[in-house]
Amino acid sequence: MDKFSIRDIVNKYGFRFSKKLGQNFLIDDSVLEDILDSSNVSNKDLIIEIGPGVGTLTRELLKRAEVVYAVELDLNLIPILQEELKDFSNFKLIHGDALKVDFNEIIGDRDNVKFVANLPYYVTTPIISRILNENYNFKSLTIMIQKEVGERIASDPGCKEYGALSILVQYYCNVHIVRRVSPSSFIPSPKVDSIVINMEKLNEPRVKVKDKNLFFKIVRFSFNMRRKTLWNALKSLKMSKTDMELAFEKSNIDPKRRGETLSIKEFGKLSDCIYELL
Ligand code: SAM
Repeated sequence: MDKFSIRDIVNKYGFRFSKKLGQNFLIDDSVLEDILDSSNVSNKDLIIEIGPGVGTLTRELLKRAEVVYAVELDLNLIPILQEELKDFSNFKLIHGDALKVDFNEIIGDRDNVKFVANLPYYVTTPIISRILNENYNFKSLTIMIQKEVGERIASDPGCKEYGALSILVQYYCNVHIVRRVSPSSFIPSPKVDSIVINMEKLNEPRVKVKDKNLFFKIVRFSFNMRRKTLWNALKSLKMSKTDMELAFEKSNIDPKRRGETLSIKEFGKLSDCIYELL
């Protein structure tokens, strides 16, 4: 949809953009095509779209997918979406908050589930974290997000962007950055650059750990105090000095290293050794 058609809709319904809800609507067809190509939507797929806006991406998804569930928080957009997309019998609109909706109710026992979205940037990380932590049964997550967040998700040990979010996403998914997107591709233009990123869920998490909650707790503690050595950061676990020494020795990890240098596998090893001692 170009900016003129979006303006038409805005005028037709007297719609006002809400900055608070992260409403930057896509007006660049080449970005739309890249999102659709990389999400690889087929007529057997159940798509969950978060934040359909006035339905630019939704309309294209509806042409390709078996069914599209769109979750929109802004009540003002509900009648617009109902009217503009009324010709599609495979369109299911949910008025709700993507941080609260029970996606399991939508997913049921379906296998071919894909999340596709141009996410509202103010809740990008909580939405991604929720989808992964709840361990929903989905195949892929293709989203447009703020460039900085995309780079954090895709980064490797040793990079300054590498952190708890990189580990969370890479624990569950293969990550592929599709493209950069400039602010001029949206109306109104956001203040930041964006990225389209595709995450394919792995059949099994990247590392097998004895206790997933402990693994992520260790990751969190290690990055909460980035400049601290692992030895200092993991004092928050309140283990005895002897057990701490044993855990580092057994996992063959130097306690003077910082969390940002550890691969997911190394975090897994350390977490399992700590688990044995707790
Ligand atoms: N998909 C449209 C597009 O590409 O033009 C709109 C994308 S816009 C960046 C984000 C959309 O998410 C807006 O429609 C906004 O109202 C909606 N939104 C904001 N917070 C939300 C939430 N917590 N749950 C669901 N939708 C939300």
